[in-house]
Amino acid sequence: MKPPAVLHLDIDAFFAAVEEALEPALRGKPLIVGGLAHERGVVCTASYAARRYGVHSGMALRTAARKCPHAVFRRGRYHLYRRISERFFACLRRFSPRVEEMSVDEAYVDLGGSRYLCPSVYELAARVKAAAERETGLRISAGLGRTRLGAKLACEAAKPGGLLWLLDEPEFVAGLTLDKVPGVGPQTFFVLQGLGVRRGRELQAKYPALWRKVFAGQYAGGMERERPEAAHPSLSRETTFPHDIRDEGLLHSHLAYLLDRLAVQLLRDGLYAGRVEVKARFSDFSTFTRRAALPFPTYSYFHLWQGALPLLRALLRERELPLRLVGAKVEGLQEARDLLPFFSLKDEKMTAAIGAVKERFGFSSLRNGRSMLLEEMYPVEREGMVLKTASLTK
Ligand SMILES: [Mg+2]
Repeated sequence: MKPPAVLHLDIDAFFAAVEEALEPALRGKPLIVGGLAHERGVVCTASYAARRYGVHSGMALRTAARKCPHAVFRRGRYHLYRRISERFFACLRRFSPRVEEMSVDEAYVDLGGSRYLCPSVYELAARVKAAAERETGLRISAGLGRTRLGAKLACEAAKPGGLLWLLDEPEFVAGLTLDKVPGVGPQTFFVLQGLGVRRGRELQAKYPALWRKVFAGQYAGGMERERPEAAHPSLSRETTFPHDIRDEGLLHSHLAYLLDRLAVQLLRDGLYAGRVEVKARFSDFSTFTRRAALPFPTYSYFHLWQGALPLLRALLRERELPLRLVGAKVEGLQEARDLLPFFSLKDEKMTAAIGAVKERFGFSSLRNGRSMLLEEMYPVEREGMVLKTASLTK
């Protein structure tokens, strides 16, 4: 059997690259997409020329304008980016039935079974990359590895525009400083350093359980993920705010929006949720979660909301600080349930009706009154709001 092969692809400076393609005069200039210089909001994409001034995505627009005063600012044409994104994924699907969309411009492609297309997996990867570049008209970075993690790391190293094959993956990962591992944030890295752990091999030797946790889902062979929770799948959505928020009404709006998205997702996947969980991260990065059982397994937005709101309120009492992130998760998912004649399914029917309209006319065609406040914070598009990170609104 041939060894597993995973290809990770990432469009370089996606939104900025589209703007440059349409307006060649912008090429090579520092370009920032996400909003205008004076606007409240964050950078969605910065061109490489802007990155040289220290501008990066997620940075406040006003900070970006200070760092790079002569940059060109654009609000962004998200419908257009989405169309190109769809073209990108459609192209990848021609090469493999297993394509995982990680965000609008990032995907994993399982090339394990596609070898018959081409005897050399590297050549095949180059072909996929070239086809995707031709069809989107954009430059794409690509990394090939035996695992997702390897592919992702190779892709990072290949930026911008290259293709790298990570050959000796276990050795590479063992020598890697852990802050380079996707999923290990600065705070986790700080804690690990305190424990005398900086590199993969130290973590593996000293804390094997933690090693497995850090690499769970990334370090299994091929596209397989370790699924410790396979018996209890969950769906979740979370968002970091463009600025910390104390206003309770605004926090409720965010929660309502996330639950709205989850309800539609449940409906679409034909699943019923047994529990709801809310997560809050405060401005000092302390993070708390609370969960509650729903009255019966359901996809009803209204029951999710009724279950989640008291959880958020309780979380807000934990600390006297503004929040930087809120998240919602539904758990205990099941495909079928016993009918419970003593519960009214009126609210559920309402969610189903709303879901049908959204499915046909776009997520934003019917908007939840509770999340109206967000419309002053984020652009509203057909398929939802453009929250701080575009990948979360996919
Ligand atoms: Mg990208």
